[in-house]
Amino acid sequence: MATERGKGKGPGREGGETIGKSKSPALCSFCGKTHREVGPLIEGPEDVFICGACVELCQSIIQQEKKRSGKGGPITTVPAPREIKTFLDEYIIGQERAKRTVSVAVHNHYKRLNAALGPEDAVELEKSNVLLIGPTGAGKTLLARTLARMLHVPFAIGDATTLTEAGYVGEDVENLLLRLIQNADFDVEAAQRGIIYIDEIDKIGRTTQNVSITRDVSGEGVQQALLKMLEGTTANVPPQGGRKHPEQQYIQIDTSQILFICGGTFGHLTDIIARRIGKSAVGFHGGHGTSPKGKEVELLNQVTPDDLIEYGMIPEFVGRLPVITPLMPLDEKALISILTEPRNALTKQYKKFVEMEGCELAFSPEALKEIARRAMARNTGARALRSVLEEIMLEVLYELPSRGAGFRYTVTEAVVRGQANVLEQSERLKESA
Ligand code: ADP
Repeated sequence: MATERGKGKGPGREGGETIGKSKSPALCSFCGKTHREVGPLIEGPEDVFICGACVELCQSIIQQEKKRSGKGGPITTVPAPREIKTFLDEYIIGQERAKRTVSVAVHNHYKRLNAALGPEDAVELEKSNVLLIGPTGAGKTLLARTLARMLHVPFAIGDATTLTEAGYVGEDVENLLLRLIQNADFDVEAAQRGIIYIDEIDKIGRTTQNVSITRDVSGEGVQQALLKMLEGTTANVPPQGGRKHPEQQYIQIDTSQILFICGGTFGHLTDIIARRIGKSAVGFHGGHGTSPKGKEVELLNQVTPDDLIEYGMIPEFVGRLPVITPLMPLDEKALISILTEPRNALTKQYKKFVEMEGCELAFSPEALKEIARRAMARNTGARALRSVLEEIMLEVLYELPSRGAGFRYTVTEAVVRGQANVLEQSERLKESA
């Protein structure tokens, strides 16, 4: 049985403590430090000791090994696009084209990784970094996050605008990598197979749309650093983030296998597409494009890399994002589905909370419609659903624990409109329930 050494015996004296028969000072058998340096030592059989720091280190090594051999390890069997899409369907409403496109891209990406592990005869398979184009709150981040979850790979989110603001070449871009490494519990190998989502990528394009295509832009340093990262480079990441410091030991990470998913709203991109299509008279057939939303959908579906270059992205950048897919604005019906259908749908989450208090919660169909309408009015896509719902649910969640179990609460349209109080609409649940 291991016993703890150096604890409960007061501070050690010069020369260290002696253990059992061997009158030698107690040293950690792993790092060689005394208990005075590293605190209490745990004693094993035959004069073996280990300090707290080494225990922690061992634990993290074991965890990493477990991950490597288990779920977090290399993806040996790359899931088929159909499998990936089925998983995405559980969390993401609509966005069929994006889900399909991304499923194929991700499948190919990890297949390419596996090929890279094999003999060197392979045709060079291009990296399939992805560009998601679509309005705020349409599910771009969710899509990237869900992919990482499905594949059990580390995931990090960054924002291109903050990279621009910092302005120091390379510095902040590497922070993105650091975040990924941190999320991989400093398992660099796992991080190298991870996914990074970079939001607001449209904001690092040219500032004005009429300037000719030059690389003379304020964020050029950032763009160049991002470019390098996208195409694959060995980056030196300062472990603490922030500025590089000569004394700091860098973590080296190879970005060539990291899947980058970039997202942006690309406002007015539809104007560019419309102009192009108008000129060349290709593709635009009206169809369901009578409503402004329908038109937008139709136009976005026809986006090409050239449109993005015209929008202001530098050509090299567009070239590094070979998979481009639009996400569509969500309509009221989609928002209602988002409220109720995904595995972790908001109404399901609230119901769960209420159930934990021994009560029940229901939403009337009209209430759901009204919530969706209100969220639509905020113009932030599905993102607004949470805040609209939170406002409604605040009072219930506040009062619930004090009111006790055994109630059923129903959120009606009047409640959503603020014309009725949910708490007053509660009914007692049957005792037997
Ligand atoms: P974006 O990155 O496009 O601005 P997000 O992915 O961050 O939007 O979406 C914000 C939130 O809205 C998500 O966390 C999710 O709860 C919800 N959401 C957005 N789009 C969808 C969708 N298509 N299906 C399900 N939930 C969605």
